[in-house]
Amino acid sequence: MSLQPDTFKSLLKVAAETVIASAPELTALDQAIGDGDHGTNMKRGFEAVLSKLDAISSQPFDEALKTIGKTLVMTVGGASGPLYGSFFLAAGEALSHNKQLPDDLADVFGSGVSAVSARGRSQTGEKTMLDVLVPVLETLKSEAGRPDLIERVRTIAAEAVARTAPMQATKGRASFLGARSVGHVDPGARSSCVLVQAVCSTLEGRA
Ligand code: ADP
Ligand code: MG
Repeated sequence: MSLQPDTFKSLLKVAAETVIASAPELTALDQAIGDGDHGTNMKRGFEAVLSKLDAISSQPFDEALKTIGKTLVMTVGGASGPLYGSFFLAAGEALSHNKQLPDDLADVFGSGVSAVSARGRSQTGEKTMLDVLVPVLETLKSEAGRPDLIERVRTIAAEAVARTAPMQATKGRASFLGARSVGHVDPGARSSCVLVQAVCSTLEGRA
């Protein structure tokens, strides 16, 4: 089985449109424990991706992921731009090395997660996007082949977002608040969940 270009194009379109539609929610979350720009940052980045949708989806998948990464690095800004950019650049790089989608999805996704961790010098438990990306990766690895994998990923991502609320941030702007960061969901964890769930919806044919 291999990922079809048309499926990839709709995945990307739905993911970008969903992030753009979530901008007010992401901004509100960032207003509570950051500087309130996460929604506008992500919206700007994914509008840039949408504007290149035809060009990106006509590239081979590895090049397409790298173009998405470069576009996000150039347009999102803030802490999240270089981090999401690194994710897609590293995923594209992994795909260039004899990996295939969807068979090697966990490996390719894992390369992206490792790049975020390296770039952010961060790990799970620090109230960041990694607190969603890592549980999703673990699910892709440990539950591969389950018929309900997509539904499981969707659920795990949502639960992981909720688990960031009681955490105290030790990375990014929210860490400046110390104990006052406790009690709020992390904006980047939520945007990662939005992206993952948009992909799940397209694969399930819901979107
Ligand atoms: P900024 O914090 O510069 O305003 P954004 O608001 O766009 O940037 O993004 C904030 C999000 O970035 C946080 O909610 C968090 O999930 C993520 N983040 C910040 N620093 C790190 C890091 N070192 N590692 C992983 N994720 C991080
Ligand atoms: Mg911010």
